[in-house]
Amino acid sequence: MEVTVLLAVPRAFCAGVERAIDMVEQALRRYGPPVYVRRRIVHNAHVTAALEARGAIFVDEVGQAPDGAVVVFTAHGVAPAVRAEAARRGHHVIDATCPLVARSHTEVRRYAARGDTVLLIGHAGHDEVQGVLGQIPGGIQLVQDIASVDEVLVEDPRRVSYLTQTTLAADETGEIIDELRSRFPHLSGPDAGEVCSATTEREEAVAAIAGACDLVLVGGSAGSSDSSRLAEVARRHGTPAHLIEDVRDIRPEWLDGVRTVGLTAGVTASPHLVDEVVAALASARISGSALTPVPRPPAAGGTPADSSRVHA
Ligand code: SF4
Repeated sequence: MEVTVLLAVPRAFCAGVERAIDMVEQALRRYGPPVYVRRRIVHNAHVTAALEARGAIFVDEVGQAPDGAVVVFTAHGVAPAVRAEAARRGHHVIDATCPLVARSHTEVRRYAARGDTVLLIGHAGHDEVQGVLGQIPGGIQLVQDIASVDEVLVEDPRRVSYLTQTTLAADETGEIIDELRSRFPHLSGPDAGEVCSATTEREEAVAAIAGACDLVLVGGSAGSSDSSRLAEVARRHGTPAHLIEDVRDIRPEWLDGVRTVGLTAGVTASPHLVDEVVAALASARISGSALTPVPRPPAAGGTPADSSRVHA
């Protein structure tokens, strides 16, 4: 039986995560192992294991790396206190903070310097959120959901600014921003063009293919919020969707009666996983048959309508 695979475009690693992985690889080549990486660079066990095999050592805090070590900060960025600790330990720091996250750091400091109450819409504990909050310790209020809008304390309601965690999709933050704006009509925040669109683009791409699929598989771990959201988006379109970190996570019963499978992956998930799933579907369904990938559109111009079609 022929199974059609629809590939959402764009999918998998965002530019910031891809750049951070490249920087770890370059550091390994240039300085040799070990290279310490603060926090998880991606939510992907395979990528992590591959880097570990080459000599990367993942740590939670820079204090776990020996003095003088080569230490990489991931795309999520760090608080100034982390930089200070690394400097104190004589670490050779390679800063892979995504430029868009670095811009958030600059923005919150600018908002605070002009006397605004600064709000961050995001999830407590997320690495990026910790890095932004750490720009002004104790000086930024975290807004996690609509309910917490009522708890925001401001000195001057005319001077309130917000930023959002970059891996949240526009619709996820939109309702919170609307609620904040109804409380603080003078609320200011980034212009639309200044917000990272990687997560929103991936959601739009999976939304574009979900209705045509019997099943959607999403590369990413359960702990990855943007990958979980991609599965939710597919389900909202009435299509069963599952998160997978590995081809072996695919259960045979998911494929019963399935003719069209949609594939996507979150911003911290490896594109290799998608390739592996296509190959696995091909070998499982039609032993010995060759894949016939339809040529992919240029990545830069990729839109949801560009979704690639592969027959397995
Ligand atoms: S989601 Fe956007 S801001 Fe965050 S690392 Fe990726 S490209 Fe950078």
